Amino acid sequence: MNKEYSIETKCIQSGWKPQKGEPRVLPIYQSTTFKYDTSEQMGKLFDLEDSGYFYTRLQNPTSDIVAQKICELEGGVAAMLTSSGQAANYYAVFNICEAGDHVVMSSTVYGGTFNLLTVTMKKMGIECTIVDPDDSIEKLNEAFKANTKCVLAESIANPALVVLDFEKFVKVAHDHGVPLIVDNTFATPINCRPFEFGVDIVTHSTTKYMDGHAMCVGGAIVDSGNFDWDKYGDKFHGLTTPDESYHGVTYTERFGKTAYITKATVQLMRDLGSIPSPMNSFLLNIGLETLHLRVPRHCENALKVATWLQNNDKVAWVNYPGLKGNKYYDLAQKYMPNGTCGVISFGLKGGRDVSVSFMDSLKLAAIVTHVADARTCVLHPASHTHRQMTDEQLVEAGVQPDLIRFSVGIENADDIIADIEQALENI
Ligand SMILES: *Cc1c(COP(=O)(O)O)cnc(C)c1O
Repeated sequence: MNKEYSIETKCIQSGWKPQKGEPRVLPIYQSTTFKYDTSEQMGKLFDLEDSGYFYTRLQNPTSDIVAQKICELEGGVAAMLTSSGQAANYYAVFNICEAGDHVVMSSTVYGGTFNLLTVTMKKMGIECTIVDPDDSIEKLNEAFKANTKCVLAESIANPALVVLDFEKFVKVAHDHGVPLIVDNTFATPINCRPFEFGVDIVTHSTTKYMDGHAMCVGGAIVDSGNFDWDKYGDKFHGLTTPDESYHGVTYTERFGKTAYITKATVQLMRDLGSIPSPMNSFLLNIGLETLHLRVPRHCENALKVATWLQNNDKVAWVNYPGLKGNKYYDLAQKYMPNGTCGVISFGLKGGRDVSVSFMDSLKLAAIVTHVADARTCVLHPASHTHRQMTDEQLVEAGVQPDLIRFSVGIENADDIIADIEQALENI
């Protein structure tokens, strides 16, 4: 009778399981290296014939234990932490793509991911076709090529707040024999577990809700273990044929369902080294312990703020997938019925200048580049992240000049609304 614990219990109890006499709280293994008794023991680790820690650039117990918690929250079979969300998306794709390969990506992904794929990975010889997440299956199918190796999208896009049609994206990816990788940063496993809808690999910027306190930049990759790499062995030869850098080990043969994460750890981490510090992993774990309490509160507050804004004369438009009548409301109800996220976007009548003076008048909500932590914060993309663009270029990029990205925190919603109200009076 070993019933699986519910997600709230996993937030607290998964990961660190102390034995008799061990510390109750996850220890910080602040050590670059690990000791062995014989030279042979160490040699076996280097050949992947034995498992064990030897150097923190590859694996560290504190980080691995936190990865295990995130793995259980998502319902996967293996996971790893990375130094940032950028590193997580890079490794997730690069683990199965090389020069000459091709990726299909949603147009609404986070700007950093867009740049990673269309500029930096392009220089590495990996091409990318951008698709509109609202396209029909027929239109999406046209984006695939013989050398396509994966599809990349976000469960809730940052900052467009487009909710992914999982069923449609899983179908087109699997019809072409490639995995679907979904960045689940904004929804978090509290609101949405993409593996339940057939997604193969999930990534996170743990910097956002998982950490939740704006303390540490970090990322994670989780594998569902469901994609059959061997079935498409020619395509994914990095996983299905011998790796000469480990005396000819074949990942799918030796590691089965954990082949993908094992390869990303022993090959990409070994060579590229984007590890989190054990201290940061420890802090991330503290954030995860309250994820199930914070995320519903973020959503509850965001819905109150969005509803209030919608009924205000000075507000031109509000975009929040939790609002009835929103373009993505039905998809949100289907895939994340308990809530979406705490981020909303809106525009004020009068356009860009009014948005700027409104933001400057806010007292509680701080102007920061961050989103998705406990404190309410705000950003005006036209003045900040997309500053170099003209109004025409902004519209083309899908960012209205008056768009305000408002990340609703877990303060009292009435205080957040009162702050917005007084700032609106000042414009
Ligand atoms: C912030 C963010 C990233 C990048 O993560 P960093 O931790 O800042 O490197 C990737 N994807 C999404 C959806 C994000 O919001």
